Amino acid sequence: MQIVETIKQVRQIIALQKKRGKRIGFVPTMGALHQGHLSLIRLAKKHSDFVVVSIFVNPTQFGPKEDYKKYPRNLKKDAALCQSAGADLIFSPNVKEVYSKGFSTFINVEGLTQGLCGASRPGHFRGVATVVSKLLNIVQPDAAVFGQKDAQQLAVIRQMTKDLDLPIKIIGAPIVRERDGLAMSSRNAYLTLEERAEAPALYRALQLAVSMVKSGKREADSVKREMAKLLYRDAPLGEIDYIEIVDNEALKPVKQVKKNTLIALAMNFPSARLIDNIIGA
Ligand code: AMP
Repeated sequence: MQIVETIKQVRQIIALQKKRGKRIGFVPTMGALHQGHLSLIRLAKKHSDFVVVSIFVNPTQFGPKEDYKKYPRNLKKDAALCQSAGADLIFSPNVKEVYSKGFSTFINVEGLTQGLCGASRPGHFRGVATVVSKLLNIVQPDAAVFGQKDAQQLAVIRQMTKDLDLPIKIIGAPIVRERDGLAMSSRNAYLTLEERAEAPALYRALQLAVSMVKSGKREADSVKREMAKLLYRDAPLGEIDYIEIVDNEALKPVKQVKKNTLIALAMNFPSARLIDNIIGA
């Protein structure tokens, strides 16, 4: 496994692999890798012959008061994890390599980015869509894998790929969780012991939603109410940012939970913002 920092090096290596007839798989990340990321790399490997992982903490997707500066960075550890999961190449550019002086082109996916996390993180998805389109352009993969953990991001990338006619298969990967149900996230490391003890309540709220739906209580408002009750009770250190029940493509609110309905929530704890979701049928 090689680690490179320049666009030129990536292009050379990919050109050679393509000449050899290899299909290229791609997993974009911001590093601080965990088992969730590794599951994406393994899935990419199933769909391709040569897997590229990018590790880049993208400044344009962070708001001014967000954690860009303190976001965990540990390339050595990440490289060992990538290798263990079967990655073939790490692309780890610095900010100047990605955003050269005078950079002024941004990708804005409209509509889908308004609600959910877009509402409380203005500009976030503009930064995500911009960097992902650049990375897809640099790596030119046959397939790229994104986690369902960031369901809105996955929807945005699918829309962008379709709208811009990118010849790339976008693959969604299931959420990997800790034993107590907490969705794995690089930001979980910020949590205090007390917050960490409350954090699995997010998943319990999603499970409650699913069990309500299974028992025939499909009305979105009452599902949201019961989820909120659970969170107020079990996670008093956190503040609910949103609980939304939307269709999984247009991300528009629905009245009844049906097949392919996305139940998503975000909570602000003093030390970290956590998100989670489930598809409720
Ligand atoms: P990040 O490094 O947070 O930008 O995430 C990189 C990719 O890993 C994104 O496609 C995420 O959706 C995905 N990812 C993050 N956490 C998880 C998880 N717990 N399970 C599955 N995929 C994840």
